[in-house]
Amino acid sequence: MAAITAGYAIDLHTHSLRSDGALSPAELVKRAAARGVKIQALSDHDTLAGIAEATATGESLGVRIIPATELNTESEWGDAHVLGYFIDPQDAALEDRLRWLRENRGRRIELMVGNLNALGYAVDLVRVLEIAQGGALGRPHLAQALFEKGYVKSYDAAFDTLLAKDSPAYVARVGLSPIEAVTLVREHGGVPSLAHPGTVLGLDELLPELVAVGLAGIEAYYGEHTPEMTARCLDRARTLDLVPTGGSDFHGRGDHGTDLGGVFVPPETIERLESRRGRA
Ligand code: AMP
Ligand code: FE
Ligand code: FE
Ligand code: ZN
Repeated sequence: MAAITAGYAIDLHTHSLRSDGALSPAELVKRAAARGVKIQALSDHDTLAGIAEATATGESLGVRIIPATELNTESEWGDAHVLGYFIDPQDAALEDRLRWLRENRGRRIELMVGNLNALGYAVDLVRVLEIAQGGALGRPHLAQALFEKGYVKSYDAAFDTLLAKDSPAYVARVGLSPIEAVTLVREHGGVPSLAHPGTVLGLDELLPELVAVGLAGIEAYYGEHTPEMTARCLDRARTLDLVPTGGSDFHGRGDHGTDLGGVFVPPETIERLESRRGRA
């Protein structure tokens, strides 16, 4: 991983080992603190498991942790991921729904391991589970296993070839639609924001449908966005009354990507998001 240099104070999109990140929640928050982050959302996929540890570490290092989760959806809209902020990490009913999503993740990864094996790639499910260390399973764990075995030239390259949607090894997700994801976050008192809108197909058709069920934010500030994509998101935020959010989407895997606190997020974002609690 790259050396630690200074970043910005707010990061509303980060992942730990409780899902597909490489660092434990404590290590992640320590790294964020060392980068100068003061407010961090832990947004692990389909789990609340890291929030208590992140919050405890944050308290000792002066980092406010916003409890969050990221719901990756399955639909004709491409990669529409929904971030849910200010959820309650003790919410048992929400945890039930997330457990179902994690079980589906496990079955999907098992099926993909089977497909890879049938194609001649000898990745071992036991090794994939070791890499995940009990976190919500995802393609990043498979990417790591493929890379270790030398089947791809880099961790990131696995996503362009063997793990891509058009690969014969690919298995679709069983899960929520984008509308169901926004609704789930709202039903549990959270504030939903659409993650990295550049990966959505038909963004301008989808956005009004999500706003109708309570979408409150749009991730305008994102490392992989072009200036045009950021401007487009800011424009949609204005016309649809959405709060522009932003974050690194740091996973700590692969060679590239944005480091913690790597994108500027305006300080008023937190207050604006908080004001949308309970108001769809
Ligand atoms: P899954 O939820 O199992 O479909 O895996 C999706 C996850 O894979 C995302 O949340 C990212 O962490 C990661 N990912 C997807 N595409 C890429 C890519 N091109 N390069 C690196 N990581 C990726
Ligand atoms: Fe991820
Ligand atoms: Fe995402
Ligand atoms: Zn993410």
